[in-house]
Amino acid sequence: MRTPVMAGNWKMFKNSAETSAFFQIFTPLVAQTSGREIVICPPFVNLTAAIDAVRDSTVEIGAQNLHWKKEGAFTGEVSARMLSSIGARWVLIGHSERRQFFGDTDQTVLEKTLAALEAGLRPIVCVGELLDERESGRTHLILASQLAGSVAALTPEQFSKIAIAYEPVWAIGTGKTATPEMAADAHQVIREQVGIHVGSDAASQLRILYGGSVKPDNIDGLMTQQEIDGVLVGGASLDPIGFAKIVNYSSQAGK
Ligand code: PEP
Repeated sequence: MRTPVMAGNWKMFKNSAETSAFFQIFTPLVAQTSGREIVICPPFVNLTAAIDAVRDSTVEIGAQNLHWKKEGAFTGEVSARMLSSIGARWVLIGHSERRQFFGDTDQTVLEKTLAALEAGLRPIVCVGELLDERESGRTHLILASQLAGSVAALTPEQFSKIAIAYEPVWAIGTGKTATPEMAADAHQVIREQVGIHVGSDAASQLRILYGGSVKPDNIDGLMTQQEIDGVLVGGASLDPIGFAKIVNYSSQAGK
């Protein structure tokens, strides 16, 4: 039984007042929700406001990135230990926007994942293919290669602490969602690859989230798929009522 993870990525949106206002509405709407882990990843500067706002709730807070070194002359960067020391619990690693605009590679994803685990953070490692990679039939190869370069070196014990987000890049912020069947197919490939590298136990326990234009009106269809163990939501996580609807998807839809 894999507990679904319902995660929101706020990207570079919301100031500190907007952060507090979000949680005032959102937290009561998910107060009775059980059987799902709820995670919000605000920008660095609003982590403390968010952590304070969720203190008496089951909502947990994550960062959107980190540096792999413990400390040092790395202007503008934030380490895993710094994040865990303020009460962050999760961290996104290798989001496609980081890969596209800020030079994240499979190698830095691995280093960041190891640093996060060492500091006690739960990494959500993002993988996914570009549109031309899908259209040329290379989705499975790309996923296999991203996994081999980033997380295949982890031990089964380390693997038990991470989640993977499958985010087809062509579906992020575009309004185009992979169909539930397309997502489930990619998740199966990810699980198979993880099984090859780390063993079938680690693979069967791994939470694989889907991300890419998830909305209140498509969440039930996605969560119906046995292979989908939660979602990573960008745009639709900015609205507390909409994101609460996503978190509170109909449990008849699957898990
Ligand atoms: C994301 O940022 O990870 C994402 C999936 O964005 P959106 O939901 O807006 O497509």
